[in-house]
Amino acid sequence: MEKYTNLFWNSLKIIFNLPAMKSRIELVLGDITKVTTDAIVNAANRSLLGGGGVDGAIHRAAGPALLEACRMLEGCETGQAKITEGFQLPASHVIHTVGPIWYGGNQQEKELLAACYRNSLELARDNGCTTIAFPNISTGIYRFPKKEAARIAIAEVKKYLFHNKLPEKVFFVCFDEENFNLYEELLDEGLPTAN
Ligand code: ADP
Repeated sequence: MEKYTNLFWNSLKIIFNLPAMKSRIELVLGDITKVTTDAIVNAANRSLLGGGGVDGAIHRAAGPALLEACRMLEGCETGQAKITEGFQLPASHVIHTVGPIWYGGNQQEKELLAACYRNSLELARDNGCTTIAFPNISTGIYRFPKKEAARIAIAEVKKYLFHNKLPEKVFFVCFDEENFNLYEELLDEGLPTAN
């Protein structure tokens, strides 16, 4: 009986949360280094000492003080996240997370990618960030299939927002049209995940 009561209340929660949830997620096509959110997320590597792709762009835009701050962090494990200031970026903070390299899908890549989103959101919340912007983690040099990565990103963010008030708003910043179109399609379909 208790099971059915919980199911009932959860269903009601989902129905009433649906419009609110939608307005808490925004899709952008563009360059994450230009975004003015409280935090932007960097798809870093385990050394946290800079790299190519979005990582290189963030370090170039933030200036050399970011590299100095990153040195103090002494690296980061795959799926985990660490925070620094934004320095010369318009964003106040950078959350550095290390996405998994795609090896075919049997090396916990999906779980690790979900952990990147979850841990970044928790770190943003714990640092009082009301807005956060994500790039499409692991879908560049790390070769994670884009559609699967988008599904995981959206499901994890929706699940998190369902249970948390902060950050109030999440931006998915896509650099390429392929990712933008995938996100647009996936965001339009399905109910938010409640478990
Ligand atoms: P990874 O090693 O995690 O795959 P990449 O930086 O190679 O990281 O790619 C991750 C995603 O970031 C890719 O979809 C890529 O197109 C995107 N990207 C690259 N530069 C930028 C940027 N300036 N702003 C937003 N996204 C970017």
